[in-house]
Amino acid sequence: MPDFRFDYLIVGAGFAGAVMTEQLARRFGKRVLLVDRRPHIGGNAYDHYDEHGILVHKYGPHIFHTNSKEVFDYLSRFTEWRPYEHRVKASVDGKLVPMPINLDTVNLLYGLNLSGAELDEYFASVAERVPAIRTSEDAVVSRVGRDLYEKLFLGYTRKQWGLDPSQLDAAVAARLPVRTNRDDRYFTDAYQAMPRRGFTRMFENMLDHDNITLVLKTDYRDLLRWAPYREVIYTGPIDEFFDYRFGRLPYRSLEFRHETHEKEYFQPAPVVNYPNDRDYTRITEFKYLTGQAHPKTSVVYEYPRSEGDPYYPVPRPQNAEIYRKYQTLAETVPHVHFVGRLATYRYYNMDQIVAQALTTCARLHNCRRAELTNGRALPAYQTSAP
Ligand code: FAD
Ligand code: UDP
Repeated sequence: MPDFRFDYLIVGAGFAGAVMTEQLARRFGKRVLLVDRRPHIGGNAYDHYDEHGILVHKYGPHIFHTNSKEVFDYLSRFTEWRPYEHRVKASVDGKLVPMPINLDTVNLLYGLNLSGAELDEYFASVAERVPAIRTSEDAVVSRVGRDLYEKLFLGYTRKQWGLDPSQLDAAVAARLPVRTNRDDRYFTDAYQAMPRRGFTRMFENMLDHDNITLVLKTDYRDLLRWAPYREVIYTGPIDEFFDYRFGRLPYRSLEFRHETHEKEYFQPAPVVNYPNDRDYTRITEFKYLTGQAHPKTSVVYEYPRSEGDPYYPVPRPQNAEIYRKYQTLAETVPHVHFVGRLATYRYYNMDQIVAQALTTCARLHNCRRAELTNGRALPAYQTSAP
């Protein structure tokens, strides 16, 4: 009989891997070996104090929001929260206007003074008739017309994805609502908050358990020979797992340029989007997100790239078709479970990944997800200073 030192080998210490690890180790008493090829936990949500002592997100702005009480309560075992409602401005025609589109966006852009009801009529007059809403172009022009589409969506989307909005699923642009009131929040979810001491501290609390062995700076393939395990949870890119057998799945990458400025604030909003000029899509100023007081301020610029670390699955029909082939193959591989944004090729937010990981855990143990998340307050959360 082989000696299985570990019940699970979990590949990737981002949200998907960390939630699975936490539940399997703590809830089910499994011995888990968690491996990540990066030098840190947290995956793309990793944050840290930069050389100036400012808390920054290494891989671009991560703002937590969810409508799921279950997900919020689950994560609350590992962190306190700082209430935070995100706001974004877009730089268009020399003006900074609220994004998503609301009453002020339209009034500012066109020098109008419309009421909400008048804006409804305006949208109705400029909206294009689209027989079926399939693409991101359809989603926007059928709601707000071509001019606002061209001012706010066309350039940004071409830059972000290297594709025209007409080549992307409607769901991409439909992530942004259109409002006829003055609400300028980016999200309207019931729970909007940032982990008070940062995402990484929250992950540290999740993973602080004797059943968990963490190995960083290591590709899981380098562990396969010496680490006996029963099951694998894989959260990396699914095409890579299968050596690109059906071809590469496109993932969009980003290059991040971090800067610190010798002033208290750099820009008048947490995020400023640049749809029509500049090589970058947006600038984020972290102190707004974290609430940190500091005489200096750190920002990050995002430059979309076709090569580099995979950050975004690219939602369009031909990619879904390739993914389906990998998914079908994945279902035939015994003892390996695919979870997370890269492994299931879904443009999911953090809360959706948490829910997906909890669901997978419940499925592995033939129980309902609610059984994992209700009741029992766990002692993982610590209040020590950062
Ligand atoms: P990841 O965080 O990508 O983790 C996967 C991990 O697996 C990585 O750490 C990787 O190093 C590791 N790995 C892969 N292959 C191997 C291997 N062979 N061996 C070892 N390790 C491996 N969501 C929100 O809710 N709100 C936001 O504001 C938000 N902003 C975002 C901004 C940007 C720029 C990006 C890119 C994403 C944003 N997201 C946001 C989405 C969020 O990042 C994801 O939903 C979430 O981090 C996905 O978690 P994951 O565990 O699936 O993947
Ligand atoms: N988008 C846009 N203009 C903007 C903001 C968003 O065209 O000012 C489009 C773009 O295609 C983007 C998508 O809407 O990729 C989703 O935006 P979101 O801010 O949700 O993207 P993320 O934060 O995931 O990068």
